[in-house]
Amino acid sequence: MELSPQILGGWLDAFAAEVAENEALLTDLDRQIGDADHGANMVRGTKAVAALDPADFADARSYAKKTAMTLISTIGGASGPLYGTFFLRLAAALPDDGPIGHAAWLEALRAGVQGVMDRGKANLGDKTMLDALIPATDAFENEPDHPWQSAADAAAAGRDATVPMVARKGRASYLGQRSAGVADPGATSATLLLVAAARTLA
Ligand code: ADP
Ligand code: MG
Ligand code: MG
Repeated sequence: MELSPQILGGWLDAFAAEVAENEALLTDLDRQIGDADHGANMVRGTKAVAALDPADFADARSYAKKTAMTLISTIGGASGPLYGTFFLRLAAALPDDGPIGHAAWLEALRAGVQGVMDRGKANLGDKTMLDALIPATDAFENEPDHPWQSAADAAAAGRDATVPMVARKGRASYLGQRSAGVADPGATSATLLLVAAARTLA
């Protein structure tokens, strides 16, 4: 695959479409264990990103960086800075435009996920977006023949695994044991990011 602003734009547009399609679900999950704004937050952020024109950027790295700043300034809440940090670190780790292979994508994904961990001080099992992102990156590494589809499948499994979890980070953690029984909204939106990648980057 050739890395370019257009390739990245295809992924981001697909992410915006997935989020728009699933807004009600994200809202409903966040209504149950948060403050019911995750759908609106993610629609606002991904729409603003989809409004950027890949042709305005010299390379994928600068476009990904602008994406990060746009997500931070439009999503808000806890998830805005976390998605922003994901794309900021991903941008910094991307190679120059041109051929990009499995190893380079893996490095960029790992950097993005590590950014989320650094920023939010959360880890696997805390019932956050990391419960989708970490297994997705592991699957990406372990299934080099179809990494994006494996990552999307692992993200979905990780999202489903958040249902019985008790939240240890973010607003849902205020509920204590009552946060169990519902999928984490952020793990659900992060799964959409990987589903969009599997549709566009594979
Ligand atoms: P807010 O909780 O401020 O209303 P959102 O509803 O947009 O923000 O996002 C909530 C999601 O953010 C959660 O479902 C969770 O996945 C994610 N989140 C919250 N805190 C953290 C954290 N410290 N690390 C990783 N993800 C987090
Ligand atoms: Mg919320
Ligand atoms: Mg909120």
